[in-house]
Amino acid sequence: MDDAAPGRGAPGDVALVEVAPSVLVATSQPWSTTTTVVLGADGRCLLVDPALTPADLAALAATLARRGLSVEAGASTHPHWDHVLWSAALGAVPRWATRAAVEHARATADALAAEADATAPGHDPALTGRLDPLPGERVPWSGPEVVVVPHAAHCPGSAAFVVPGAGVLLAGDLLSETEIPLLDTDAVDPVGDHLAALRTLEAAAARWSVQALVPGHGTPTDAAGLAARLAADRAYLGALGAFPERPGARAAGAGLPAEDPRLADPEQRGHHDRQVAALRERG
Ligand SMILES: [Zn+2]
Repeated sequence: MDDAAPGRGAPGDVALVEVAPSVLVATSQPWSTTTTVVLGADGRCLLVDPALTPADLAALAATLARRGLSVEAGASTHPHWDHVLWSAALGAVPRWATRAAVEHARATADALAAEADATAPGHDPALTGRLDPLPGERVPWSGPEVVVVPHAAHCPGSAAFVVPGAGVLLAGDLLSETEIPLLDTDAVDPVGDHLAALRTLEAAAARWSVQALVPGHGTPTDAAGLAARLAADRAYLGALGAFPERPGARAAGAGLPAEDPRLADPEQRGHHDRQVAALRERG
């Protein structure tokens, strides 16, 4: 079913694609940034990583209102600017993230606002990165269970979310078909952390019989697509020459995954070059 089909919704409505029962996804540019709407009872919904421009958020708020939906809470997968945005039009509600994410967002508040302003000007800086610490392993809200799956890849405070009842994994900035694994190069073991996170997400997907993957950037896919993206990300990380069993090989970066189609994008190639340089620097 595709709720974005012609005839549904008013002109100017955000296209919301149903990836599983009760889980809708909108996509904004740049970077094919996804926003996920989890539907609860009585028209309540949970918004994960709402993005990206002020106009996008205004259109999202209007679309939800026209559908009779009210936002009960937000949730952010990680404290990068494009995942911690909000609009007053979405309501004054809790915006859940891991405790580490809340602390990181507080510590980097000025940078988050500046980065948002550089790409998507006009957001209220007082709302960017204003997050509430998750009290446990579930997102507190009245709708379907949403499980928090913390991991150490990409940036401090990262978590994926699983909606077990819908069989959906919201992966944040992992498992994208357009973005290479983007490492937290400030971490002690960026590649090891990323590989561990992939294992954590794979285990979560198996435990909750995940049938749909929603990446933070890129296109949602099914279980086979999830397996393919796990393999692609492991191939990329392996080509960096830094498997955990070869800790001395951190600096290699020699076997570049030239066949990785994501590297055809100059922006991704730039990320890749910076990652290789950062790994080489640490020897
Ligand atoms: Zn990110």
